Amino acid sequence: MLLHTIAEVREQIRIWKKQGLTVGLVPTMGALHEGHLSLIKKSVEKCDKTVVSVFVNPIQFCPGEDFEKYPRTLDADREMAESAGVDIVFAPSAAEMYGEGHIMSNDFLTYVIPPFFYVNKLCGKSRTGHFDGVCTVVNKLFNIVQPDFAFFGEKDRQQLIIIKKMVKDLSIPTEIIPCPIVREADGLAMSSRNKYLNEQERKDALVLKNILFNIKSCYNSGIKDTEALAETAFNFLKSCHSLEYLEFRDKNDLELKKTADKDTIVFIAVKIGNVRLIDNISLEN
Ligand code: AMP
Repeated sequence: MLLHTIAEVREQIRIWKKQGLTVGLVPTMGALHEGHLSLIKKSVEKCDKTVVSVFVNPIQFCPGEDFEKYPRTLDADREMAESAGVDIVFAPSAAEMYGEGHIMSNDFLTYVIPPFFYVNKLCGKSRTGHFDGVCTVVNKLFNIVQPDFAFFGEKDRQQLIIIKKMVKDLSIPTEIIPCPIVREADGLAMSSRNKYLNEQERKDALVLKNILFNIKSCYNSGIKDTEALAETAFNFLKSCHSLEYLEFRDKNDLELKKTADKDTIVFIAVKIGNVRLIDNISLEN
């Protein structure tokens, strides 16, 4: 069923909890693809009931980002979610979530602010306030849905680490289930933003996975110094690629790594034309 209000969702959750059923939550911004579907399938498999939220959260977009043009495909999303066995698609308006008139102004909203150490790097560096918006909406969704399990993709690895930290620090009674990155046949990590790429840019976008996969094979062949590993990236970068970051960080606390090991995640962000793409790879196994 498709629900638009917090009250309707709460009522349904109340009934399920009374019946002793477990609830899984998959938070999304819609424009669902196979990546989202993998999270949904995991939830449907693990939980008695699954809620998918579809909400393009205005407070996690920075000025000048793509909030207005972000793809909105609710009918198709609903169809995809329900055929995968989802029980509730929760698609609130911004006014339902944040109240009329207070939508874009953080002067009138209580925020959940993740620790500075986790947000002053990688995507948080160029997207000021982004993770405040993410943590605030995820916390709100947790309070509305009260999920036993919530499913997050490793595609947004910094987000996943920050959400896990929030859940621990605030003693939120929800278990976070990480889900592996789903890629297109040629290796590009699936993303709703891939829709913005033209034909040439779609080809150029393979640079992210080429760099990451190459670093992993160099690591496996014995190179552990992260500076040396990072240098291998330059063989792949062309003038059409603008590298925002390529960093080696710890999978738990995002500490910078000088020497790569099994706990290292390699994070990359590249701008292809006007489209900013992110990807990452774990050096474990
Ligand atoms: P979004 O709609 O982009 O906010 O993503 C919603 C959830 O789906 C997040 O937890 C993402 O990490 C996850 N997700 C998006 N793309 C992928 C992908 N290619 N593989 C795995 N998870 C993904």
